[in-house]
Amino acid sequence: MASKKLIILCGPSGSGKTTIASHLMRSFPQLAFSVSATTRSQRNTEKHEKDYHFLTLEDFKEKINQDAFVEYEEVYPGIYYGTLKSELEKIWQENKIPILDIDVVGATNIKKNYSPDSLTVFVHPLSLENLKQRLHQRATESVESFTNRIHKAEEELNAAESFDRIVYNDNLEHAVAKANEFVNQYLQDIK
Ligand code: 5GP
Repeated sequence: MASKKLIILCGPSGSGKTTIASHLMRSFPQLAFSVSATTRSQRNTEKHEKDYHFLTLEDFKEKINQDAFVEYEEVYPGIYYGTLKSELEKIWQENKIPILDIDVVGATNIKKNYSPDSLTVFVHPLSLENLKQRLHQRATESVESFTNRIHKAEEELNAAESFDRIVYNDNLEHAVAKANEFVNQYLQDIK
């Protein structure tokens, strides 16, 4: 097999990155979604082991002690998220390429310490107003969680320039086409 490729999609909560990831997986069957672990509570639209490995804080901390994570992060106060080594290894063993949906700090850590040849793509909502509207429409968040997410988004937008590629999501169809183009280029790039 060629080098272990890896694609990281980043962007504020509500930027549309999860939707874009789904489109990418339909266009490129060699991609497989890397299921992160988290201590946040499960939304009723989500499936355990498919969207996330939903863990108790105790179990998450045990995995930290076992050095089971490539990276992990307290993304919101008291709420942990992390990429499991076992998840990436499983995908590579299937001769597939992991696609990760993680936050800016996690993406930066992976690119720097673990997989310098990874492709990092930032999904940019163009404005905070767009983001607020989308999060409202999605209606999955409590007031506290909504405020946390907007606060974090403000920080994340400043990091966009440090990514390999930026996809502006003012229009989903255009954003998906751009993301396809970037991923296609990366996959053809034989290392
Ligand atoms: P959500 O709760 O909306 O599913 O995700 C909240 C944030 O956590 C998003 O920015 C998402 O990309 C990020 N996230 C999800 N999984 C991971 C992970 O494994 N590591 C890190 N660092 N962030 C993650």
